[in-house]
Amino acid sequence: MIKNYESTRSANIKSTASEAILKGIADDGGLYIMRNLDDKKVDIEKLQGKGYKEIARIVIELMLDDFSKENIKECVEKAYTNKFSTKEITPVVKVGQCFITELFHGPTSAFKDVALSILPHLVTTSYDMNDMKGEVIILTATSGDTGKAALEGFKDVKGTKIIVFYPDGGVSQVQRLQMVTQEGSNTHVCAIKGNFDDAQTGVKKIFTNNELINELSKENKMFSSANSINIGRLVPQIVYYFYSYIKLVEKGEIKLYDKINFSVPTGNFGNILAGYYAKLLGLPIKKLICASNENNVLYDFIKTGIYDRNRTFYKTISPSMDILVSSNLERLLYYISEKNNEVVKEFMDKLNREGKYEIDEKMKQTLNSQFYAGCVYKEETQNIIKETYEKHGYLLDTHTAVAFKVLQDYKNETGDNTVSVVLSTASPFKFTRSVYESLFGPSDVDEFKIMHELSEKTGVKIPENLQGLEYKKILHQKLCEINEMVEYVKTVGDLK
Ligand SMILES: *Cc1c(COP(=O)(O)O)cnc(C)c1O
Repeated sequence: MIKNYESTRSANIKSTASEAILKGIADDGGLYIMRNLDDKKVDIEKLQGKGYKEIARIVIELMLDDFSKENIKECVEKAYTNKFSTKEITPVVKVGQCFITELFHGPTSAFKDVALSILPHLVTTSYDMNDMKGEVIILTATSGDTGKAALEGFKDVKGTKIIVFYPDGGVSQVQRLQMVTQEGSNTHVCAIKGNFDDAQTGVKKIFTNNELINELSKENKMFSSANSINIGRLVPQIVYYFYSYIKLVEKGEIKLYDKINFSVPTGNFGNILAGYYAKLLGLPIKKLICASNENNVLYDFIKTGIYDRNRTFYKTISPSMDILVSSNLERLLYYISEKNNEVVKEFMDKLNREGKYEIDEKMKQTLNSQFYAGCVYKEETQNIIKETYEKHGYLLDTHTAVAFKVLQDYKNETGDNTVSVVLSTASPFKFTRSVYESLFGPSDVDEFKIMHELSEKTGVKIPENLQGLEYKKILHQKLCEINEMVEYVKTVGDLK
């Protein structure tokens, strides 16, 4: 089999797509990337008239190059048949002068569903392809949305167990309830006393803990990841960039081969990186607009070329973007350094040691030719939610609102009038209180009462999966210190 994937940190660590999906992260702590990605091209002419699933098959086949066509077709069918509340999967709507691709119609009302509906099928297929026997233990750190989407995706999937770590007090009430009420015989949820970065670092350490990995393999078990460090998460996210584009062509808003912009509410840099991949695969994208909240480490990086995580961590009204170490940026560094693994390794070592690194002028120029960055804070986010509702009758969630506002700022600053798409990453009902208060001012009633009031006052329906959540039985109550994560994983994995 052709091993087209390699670690960002070493060209000597090679892997097939299916191995990369199973492992989640390379042995040296690097992320798997496809070296010759820019040689591959999606023929956009042929995408016209095709639906979401057909486009998904074409894109995923290209990226997961050791899977058979039949296998991919099966995975796509299982993932996107009757799992989303709309047949289009990711509808594209017009709001004012821009377009919004709604990525939140899946089983947990967040964009993570698009990838996490298919990831379990990609994992089990990879497992069979590599003649594995035993069990895959999926480790996941979440800032709120990945956790629930991963639990829902892997629930009762044969041969797997899933463990989710979330920051205690760092997720919305709806997000927490979604996770702690999770059913399924193989699901495990644990709050940690720390923030998302602590959870993510803890999980990455477990992935590279050789002692533990050896113990596991003796029992025919292995770890994998449901975070966007896994290419099985990233690849399905490329699809909706192509889909959005084709919809705009079909609506007559653009002509085939016209360039468009995407504005993306960004945290771990997974979603927007998928856009960069789409561009490498031939999608006519002018700018990828990286939108941040108060945790604007990416904004500073794109403006200055210096990545510096040594700063205050803010809890914001867009908690899924409250991240200071954006894992997937490592993959972008690989491509903008002209695939220089040594340089990437140096940056990552520096980040580990000093929390900081700086790219050179040439890399910075490449970066700025592709990306624009903006950040907006709480008050502006609340204002844009209110304004958009009052002007257009459209309800933005707090994350989407950040990207919507940054797009406006970009247009004002640059005068660029290219057709632009905002990726909408969550239903407004997932962040009910913040959305409600943006529209109607402070309220001290309970989150679920607010949800119903928001729906009554705006006429927007509450997604089915969020209805009645407050009455569900709490099934997970575990809380642990950061340094107890390993023990917890051992217990769940039956290692002692
Ligand atoms: C995860 C998430 C994001 C951030 O996406 P990344 O891929 O981590 O950059 C933004 N908004 C919502 C609602 C999310 O759940």
